[in-house]
Amino acid sequence: MDLIADARARDADDPLAPRRARYLIPEGVIYLDGNSLGPASHAALAALEVAARQEWAEGLIRSWNAAGWFEMPLALGDRIGRLVGAGAGSVACCDTISVNLYKVLHACLALRPDRRVILAEATSFPTDLYIAEGVCAAAGARLVLAEGPVEAALTDEVAAMLVNHVDYRSGALRDMAGLSAAAQAAGALAVWDLSHSAGALEVALDRDGADFAVGCTYKYLNGGPGAPGFVYAAARHHGSIRQPVSGWWGHARPFAFEPGYAAAEGVKAFLAGTQPVLSMRTLAGALEDWEGVGMAEVRAKSRAMTEAFIGWVEAVCPELELGSPREAAARGSQVSFRHANGYEIMQALIARGVIGDFRAPDVLRFGFAPLYLSFEEVARAVLALREVLASGEWREARFAERGAVT
Ligand SMILES: *Cc1c(COP(=O)(O)O)cnc(C)c1O
Repeated sequence: MDLIADARARDADDPLAPRRARYLIPEGVIYLDGNSLGPASHAALAALEVAARQEWAEGLIRSWNAAGWFEMPLALGDRIGRLVGAGAGSVACCDTISVNLYKVLHACLALRPDRRVILAEATSFPTDLYIAEGVCAAAGARLVLAEGPVEAALTDEVAAMLVNHVDYRSGALRDMAGLSAAAQAAGALAVWDLSHSAGALEVALDRDGADFAVGCTYKYLNGGPGAPGFVYAAARHHGSIRQPVSGWWGHARPFAFEPGYAAAEGVKAFLAGTQPVLSMRTLAGALEDWEGVGMAEVRAKSRAMTEAFIGWVEAVCPELELGSPREAAARGSQVSFRHANGYEIMQALIARGVIGDFRAPDVLRFGFAPLYLSFEEVARAVLALREVLASGEWREARFAERGAVT
């Protein structure tokens, strides 16, 4: 099998290939970790430069109005909303995913005062569970973790069912319409974490009946390290959002400086306080790269890439065991392979310029971002992985050293 020839033929047919030029990917790097931190783009860096040198350095305080800083959470929210199937005014860009989830889960408990259970999948990204624990402790509720299908654990005590749309470890994709309907049929609210689906596949929050959602902009949306998260509320909940981080940005009249809190209408009620303007402006630049991009096209390339990757790895690296759903429709835009020495193997691969990541206990994780990856790079990554395994170079002591961030 000639992987490179196969890959080049696919690249020749790829309508998204010209988008690659928008991104800065270092020479010699094959980047398969855009599901953890997306790369910089020229548009993102240009926006950051303008925000720092003109809006801040020259505009000073005037830029809150003149540069639209104050309006950014909802303006960016609308732009993100278009990528996740949310109508205008339903998404706010603010704070972190963790903090947004804290606010959302409290809002759910407030909407279901007679129910005191938050239901989540045991396999959720840990911060989601830690936050749910914190919400439960503060609100006198109980966290129930589903080991099997989450919908099977719905009871008449569940106020909110929290689901990770794409599982961070396996890449398994959950059925948003089906699970939202199941939660609502049981009287619960459906809360979605889109961290691994926003910018990777077609998300239809309004159509699929989600109640609330949180998501990430520094992964597939390429907003930059620490870029703010986003929070969605279905229109039917606008007007009844109550959350405990009741700061002035979420006040109905922030500049009236009244002593008492009065929640703003709509998703704005999720705002708390002053936002990281430079990060938001960087994200605004990154979102320019999404203009004119159809999510169906992104998804089609992602499916083709993950499928090719699995086929190639299984053909040349029999030591690895697939840790993701085999069926493309059941998978997000990442592929996991398992090996007892996954950590060392990933470090050796990174030393060869192929950047993926490792998730405990044994998962080698590879993300596929269709806007800047070519099939040839994917094929070259597979050949490097084969070399790492065949040579045994991963056994070198230096690859077993662990940094703070894996
Ligand atoms: C990346 C990720 C997070 C990160 O949360 P932060 O508050 O931004 O640190 C949370 N949940 C999921 C599912 C993630 O993938």
